[in-house]
Amino acid sequence: MYTLNNFYKSKEWEDLLNQLKLERLVDGQLICEHCGKSIVTKYDCIGHHKIELTEANVNDYSISLNPNNIMLIHFKCHNQIHQRFGYEPPKKVYIVYGSPCAGKSTWVNSVATDNDIIIDIDKIWECISVCDKYHKPNRLKANVFGLRDTLLDQIRMRVGMWHNAYIIGTYPLKMDRTRLAQRLNAELIYIECDKETCLNRAKNKEWKEYIEEWFDKFQE
Ligand SMILES: [Zn+2]
Ligand SMILES: [Zn+2]
Repeated sequence: MYTLNNFYKSKEWEDLLNQLKLERLVDGQLICEHCGKSIVTKYDCIGHHKIELTEANVNDYSISLNPNNIMLIHFKCHNQIHQRFGYEPPKKVYIVYGSPCAGKSTWVNSVATDNDIIIDIDKIWECISVCDKYHKPNRLKANVFGLRDTLLDQIRMRVGMWHNAYIIGTYPLKMDRTRLAQRLNAELIYIECDKETCLNRAKNKEWKEYIEEWFDKFQE
């Protein structure tokens, strides 16, 4: 028996999505069934139910696992659809992880709507100091982390009226991110980007070192 909360993390749903992503390729490309443009990256694709899932119908597989009821669309298109129809889905929490300079914030900024909450530790640093994102004074660390933890608790308890929450972080270690995902009941989104590209985007030597470290530590 599924609940809305655990359905989206189930193996059945994941397997069906993977199967549909293969079946619906047109000339090797996946086309968004909402806007008609191609979906370039794996993480940018989401399965949307035309008849929306509710606690009442999530175990009716002719609805929840029926390919005819599922559209493969861009993350952004999905957020727009849900915002436009004013439908109140259960709050969704995403942990967006990957190397520094992989494009995590850029992606979140491109998909999030006004009704979403974003927790980005770099921005918290900037928010309470005169420093830019490349300078993080140690003396402020406890306060920055405290603020982040308060926000994470709010997300965990689903406090507020937001639709989606995006938690941006590097999380190279599998155990760290799966533990956080379990605690927050969140889905993981890996912003995949090769090391070369990340290094090219890095602004200074320190940042390049963070990237090298991340790729050394990273566990798939
Ligand atoms: Zn689209
Ligand atoms: Zn949907």
